[in-house]
Amino acid sequence: MSADLQFMEEWIPEKMDPGTVFMLETQAKLGQAQNPYVAVMSCPRCGTLGLITRKQIAGLIPVICGSSQCSAQFFINDSEIVPRKPS
Ligand SMILES: [Zn+2]
Repeated sequence: MSADLQFMEEWIPEKMDPGTVFMLETQAKLGQAQNPYVAVMSCPRCGTLGLITRKQIAGLIPVICGSSQCSAQFFINDSEIVPRKPS
């Protein structure tokens, strides 16, 4: 599942291929103040869209796919998707 992130400049949901990130502009207003949602990302495995937080895009905590059909867990390391090692 390791792959490069694709950053999208414009919000075009139908073009959110797996592994695409769209940075939100109103980031400070969503979610918790300490760890707000800053982007929308499509799961690199199944393409399900989900919100990701500042700490997730900084690679501090893993991203877990929100789809019940998919259990993908991965870290964002700079512009790379790194599968989470089984613990
Ligand atoms: Zn998924």
